[in-house]
Amino acid sequence: MAIIVTPEIKEIVKRYREIWTIRYSRSLLGWDMETYMPPAAFKERGEVNAVLESMVRRLITNPEFSSLVESAKPQNDVEKGIIRVLKRDLKYYTALPEEFLQEEERVKTEAFTIWREAKEKGNFSLFAPLLEKIVDLQRRKAEYLGYKDHPYDALLDLYEEGLTVRKCEHIFSTISKISHLFEKIKEKYPEKHPLEGMEYNRRFLERLIEYMLFTMGFDFSRGRIDVSPHPFTTNMGLYDVRITTRYEGRDFRRALMAAIHEFGHAMYEMNIDKELWATPVQQGVSLGIHESQSRFWENIVGRSSHFIDAFYKEMVVALPFLKDYGKDDLYTYLTLVRPEFIRVEADEVQYVLHIYLRYKIEKELIEGSLEVKEAPQTWDDLMEDLIGVRPPNDKLGILQDIHWAHATIGYFPTYAIGSMVAAHIYREIKGIAEGVKRADFGSIMNILREKIHRWGSVYSPEELLERAAGKKLDPENFIAYLEMKYLRF
Ligand SMILES: [Zn+2]
Repeated sequence: MAIIVTPEIKEIVKRYREIWTIRYSRSLLGWDMETYMPPAAFKERGEVNAVLESMVRRLITNPEFSSLVESAKPQNDVEKGIIRVLKRDLKYYTALPEEFLQEEERVKTEAFTIWREAKEKGNFSLFAPLLEKIVDLQRRKAEYLGYKDHPYDALLDLYEEGLTVRKCEHIFSTISKISHLFEKIKEKYPEKHPLEGMEYNRRFLERLIEYMLFTMGFDFSRGRIDVSPHPFTTNMGLYDVRITTRYEGRDFRRALMAAIHEFGHAMYEMNIDKELWATPVQQGVSLGIHESQSRFWENIVGRSSHFIDAFYKEMVVALPFLKDYGKDDLYTYLTLVRPEFIRVEADEVQYVLHIYLRYKIEKELIEGSLEVKEAPQTWDDLMEDLIGVRPPNDKLGILQDIHWAHATIGYFPTYAIGSMVAAHIYREIKGIAEGVKRADFGSIMNILREKIHRWGSVYSPEELLERAAGKKLDPENFIAYLEMKYLRF
């Protein structure tokens, strides 16, 4: 890893320390908000966040700082990465006028409240006027940010650097194959598995999860695991990375798989090279690459017979009812494939179909070929086409996700990228598949650390993947992975 040698870039990194500190603090506040913050603090905390965000904006757009960034002549890959990341920040904060961001903030707050109510009542028409406002705002946002081919490109790039409609079409060129595969695979599975109903002892399951994460490489001196209704990962710095999971009392795979998923996110952040500490590149490079790490550990490692072999003894101790079920039964339970209305309940086979549906609707809303009022019908039709079930109401259909209420249009495709990149890594990077087969977590982690994690945001997502795997993302790897895993028996 090359270090920072150019005097101007040393100066930039020195000045960046203030921004880094605010972002560190915001992460901790965000973690607290999702875990232990008392409910009445919500509004006050919102105010604090807004002020901190405007401080970041001020520091980044400060003329002295921005001209240092604009005129910098980076000498090596790390320096290039620093300037690339800061220029993206700078573009974001200068392209969008303050009034626009304030308006977006106001609409989001209103939309969130109304969405919650609409979802509760299963009534899309309540939410429709807000979604119209949000689509309009996002179209304006795309104009402010600029794009070459499609307005949606400007939004996609916010969540996955360099992502465009053209690249999404390539990724989703596999959709009909996935849909057929899903059709075939679901026939092999029971509609329900008895283990879903089994109640567990929460304390025992907590200990089991801690043991598993420790064995796979989680560093508890730099991280912790807590409980929150929606599991997530927060990274403050390299020495404080926190994850959460949730315990519902039965169907233990939900708590277990959520923890392993977040573990994958956390390891990416924990393994970033210490040389990059407190610089603009000390973080995972994109949502898609991040999601590839969580899905790799959750689906490819966690939902494998090798994982079960490695931990079966400890699992039976923590979950004594497993004594009545063999390893094969446990494997069926962990890899159950059946149609789901709800994205977050979906297995790894149909998951990308749920994302494609959202991608198609978002793209058409942004380009203006679909109207908000037609969206629920399109949603239900696509569900029927792709997954074979029709949502009985909007709660189980178009109202299920929070993303549109949060005005994060363009975010969903990063989930599909995560699944595809995970399979790409598994099949293309030497030593990974062997590591999974041997449940050799140490060797898997070493490879991922060297090839992906340690680089933080030094390289763009596409460049990082190409350097790590030796070739560009090939969506056929995902198909091959699913066929090998689900059609062998
Ligand atoms: Zn995730």
